[in-house]
Amino acid sequence: MSHSPTFSIEFFPPVTPEGVEKLRATRAQLAPLKPAFFSVTYGAGGSTRDRTLSTVREIQAEGLSGAPHLSCIGSTRESIREHLAQFREIGVKRIVALRGDLPSGMADPGEFRYANELIAFIRAESGDEFTIEAAAYPEVHPQARNAQTDFEAYLKKMRAGANSAITQYFYNADAYFDFVERSQAAGIDAPVVPGIMPIANFSKIARFSEACGAEIPQWMRRRFEGFGDDTASVRAFGLDVVTALCERLIAGGAPGLHFYTLNQAGLTTEIWKRLRLS
Ligand code: FAD
Repeated sequence: MSHSPTFSIEFFPPVTPEGVEKLRATRAQLAPLKPAFFSVTYGAGGSTRDRTLSTVREIQAEGLSGAPHLSCIGSTRESIREHLAQFREIGVKRIVALRGDLPSGMADPGEFRYANELIAFIRAESGDEFTIEAAAYPEVHPQARNAQTDFEAYLKKMRAGANSAITQYFYNADAYFDFVERSQAAGIDAPVVPGIMPIANFSKIARFSEACGAEIPQWMRRRFEGFGDDTASVRAFGLDVVTALCERLIAGGAPGLHFYTLNQAGLTTEIWKRLRLS
């Protein structure tokens, strides 16, 4: 089955009124790129519930397509049902469905253990009303028992009714191609869209990568470290490296790209233009 490529953009829900204003400005810069949708993350244990919804509501009201992330850890069936009703009310068509991580200090995992259970529940509650995106980990989820059980967990999410997947970010294209090949060999031909993390601040990305299990190839690390505090060189090299990664992914058949913007427009716009996506 062939799918048209999907280029999309991710935000997190801002905390302060200044952050809300700034995100409006970021959106105004990114909207002309015409992404397929803007997704909005959801804080652990429902901590951003209202802010995620209000950000998606604003996006929808601007005539753009908003896709809330929804995590199930710590939730009940009833609370997920309420979310779905709210999404319906504001015209949401796409949900990024996740397990999420239990916040420290929160002991009750709730009524869902893994994301495949949330995906099955959304399908049972709402049929084909929503396009469901699942998370995929070409470099293996950091808490996975092993690579094989993690891959099986991914297959379960797709078989539970996810339409497509968005990956954790990575800088090693081979891990992505290997993942897609195994997925197709297992009979899943749903699109697996690479998550792309532009690089403005290398030490921040190195810290994130440690936590989420993304490998930074040694040659890249050494080059970035060599720039020290020279932010212009970090930015220029980051743009070159990430654009080259995207080019390789697209040339190898990736069915789109999903940009983790961290609510900044600059790098995503530049990469998008270099790739001539719009
Ligand atoms: P799952 O697919 O349920 O997997 C979680 C872990 O459990 C994995 O280690 C897996 O191997 C294991 N597992 C799954 N099923 C089974 C099973 N049946 N038996 C044994 N082990 C199993 N986090 C947020 O808090 N908010 C967000 O908005 C957010 N957005 C994200 C968007 C994307 C595209 C991605 C890739 C990640 C996002 N995350 C977000 C991070 C995500 O919530 C964490 O990585 C979380 O730890 C796992 O969520 P999941 O949906 O992948 O879980």
